[in-house]
Amino acid sequence: MKCKYHPDIISCAKCFICKENICHLCTVEKDDNVYCKICFDKKFKVPEKIVKPVIKEKNIKDQFNILAILSFSLGIAGLFFNLFAAIPAIILSLMARKQIKESGEKGSEFAILGLIFGIIFATIWTILICGYFSMIGTFGITLCAGLGSGGG
Ligand SMILES: [Zn+2]
Ligand SMILES: [Zn+2]
Repeated sequence: MKCKYHPDIISCAKCFICKENICHLCTVEKDDNVYCKICFDKKFKVPEKIVKPVIKEKNIKDQFNILAILSFSLGIAGLFFNLFAAIPAIILSLMARKQIKESGEKGSEFAILGLIFGIIFATIWTILICGYFSMIGTFGITLCAGLGSGGG
């Protein structure tokens, strides 16, 4: 017998559904039964398409992204722990947003808040630290100048 779909190839199996003779190119095995590709597609492809979005939905985690929460916490902590918390908050926020985009996790709001707090506190602390050091610097110069003039 020749394959129904390949007239030049000898058939090696029979389709479980349409009972046509089919060749090795046309056979699809599933659950110990042999199908031709057409019957297989009709029988299994459609449900598979319905199944696929369900799997995708499962991949969308119903949980918050850890990095986003960390970023948010560090952003707030930036108020007390200055750049040591504010800069990691910015970095973590960027990482969290990337992860959330890929995994579909919750917490993008936290990542954004972490970024905002991180930037705000990093800026404030940078100004404060610069101001502090320039103050010390000015004070030091004044002190040295005073000492120098006093000693001389
Ligand atoms: Zn068939
Ligand atoms: Zn064939």
